[in-house]
This record gives sequence, structure tokens and C-alpha cells, in this order.
Amino acid sequence: MAVGIGLLTKYSMIFFCISALFLLLRLNQFSWVQIITATTIALLIFCPNIIWNITHDFPTLKHHVEMTSLDKGTEVQISPLIEFLIGQFVIFSPIIFSPIEENCQCPVCSPEKHGFNHPFYSRAYIHHLQKINEMLGSILATQHNIWFYLQIMQEMRAKEHKNLVENLQKQDEIITSSGIVGKITDINSTYITLEVGDNQNKTEVIVKRQAAETLLPKGTIKEIF
Ligand SMILES: [Zn+2]
Repeated sequence: MAVGIGLLTKYSMIFFCISALFLLLRLNQFSWVQIITATTIALLIFCPNIIWNITHDFPTLKHHVEMTSLDKGTEVQISPLIEFLIGQFVIFSPIIFSPIEENCQCPVCSPEKHGFNHPFYSRAYIHHLQKINEMLGSILATQHNIWFYLQIMQEMRAKEHKNLVENLQKQDEIITSSGIVGKITDINSTYITLEVGDNQNKTEVIVKRQAAETLLPKGTIKEIF
């Protein structure tokens, strides 16, 4: 409901929804029933606006296009519109969510973790900066948001590595994080025995299972030598 009312005043509200989806996915609290109910309520509240737009030849859309291509005449400019949308997305999205991200480690929320001496920027302060159109507000919000997205990507990468380490088997050919290429001859929960060297000079080394970094297609080692 709040989203519907929000949409009536500001279309940036849609970016809030995208972020909310992201966050729900991340917290594993994703429920289609809830999302569909919420969307329906939001649309019901917002539909008079859509109908008005349709009957009046889309003034809102025109207004947004004009706003982003002010000095370029009447020709509709698509790329500034997209730039504008991305800008809005980066600036407005997860900042609304920072209460949920209480222990955010970004330079804005936890400057001490990054070697700065000043106290953290509070949500209220950033909100105030944005209210008075102070540039710093957007800079800080963007910093926090980019950190948020980087974190998601890092989590994905960590998951991928965990998958790889868990599914290693004998005869797999791998590269370790230190760059050693070898074939697994023995494996237990903590260590891997790796056969390394060319055909005349084979030897075995033991490495930590975690050190496996890349899984090579079978037969790659044969091709190297
Ligand atoms: Zn933060």
C-alpha cells in the first residue's frame, strides 16, 4: 500500500521495489504470494494515475523525457533517459533499507573499518543532505549502494568456490590458488593429493582442499606437455 501511495507522488518508488526484491532474495524470505498481493494493492492505488495518463496522452512520460533532454529540442532522447533512470536507481535504492542493513561494513556506515577517524554518517544526516540538494548526500548514498552490490557479487563468488571445493573428485584436473596445475589422486575432507610434473617426472604434493581454484576440462594437462 505504501508503495502505491509512494508511486503517486514519485516514480522513483519503483526503484525501492527492485531493491526490496533483491533484499528479500538475499534474506531467503522470498514469497510469491506476498509479493503478488503487495503488487496488486500497489497497482490498485496507482491505477487512477495510469488511467489518467492513458486518457491524457501520457503527460508524465513526456515530462520525464523533457526533464532529461532539456536543451536537445523536442526530439526524444533515449540515452539520457536511461542514464537518468540508472542514476536514480543507484542513488535512491538501498539507502531506504539501511535500517535492515544495520551492520553494513561500507566506508559510509563503518568508516573505522576503513581507517578513517570520523564517526559514521547517519541515515538522518544523509537524508538531510539530499533534502537540501547537497552533492555530498548523493556521493555518500552512492558509495553505500555500490558497496551493497559488490557484497552481493562477492557472496555469489564465494558460493561458487564453495561448490567447486565440495564437488572435487579423484582424477579431476585443477589449478590451485598458487598456480600449481595437477591431477587429484587422493582426496579427503581437508586435503588433496595432487599429481604434478610432466610425463617423465611425476611427483605428488599435498595441498589444502580450499586451495583448489579452477577446475580444468579433463585432458588439459596432457595437452600442456
Ligand atoms: Zn553502508
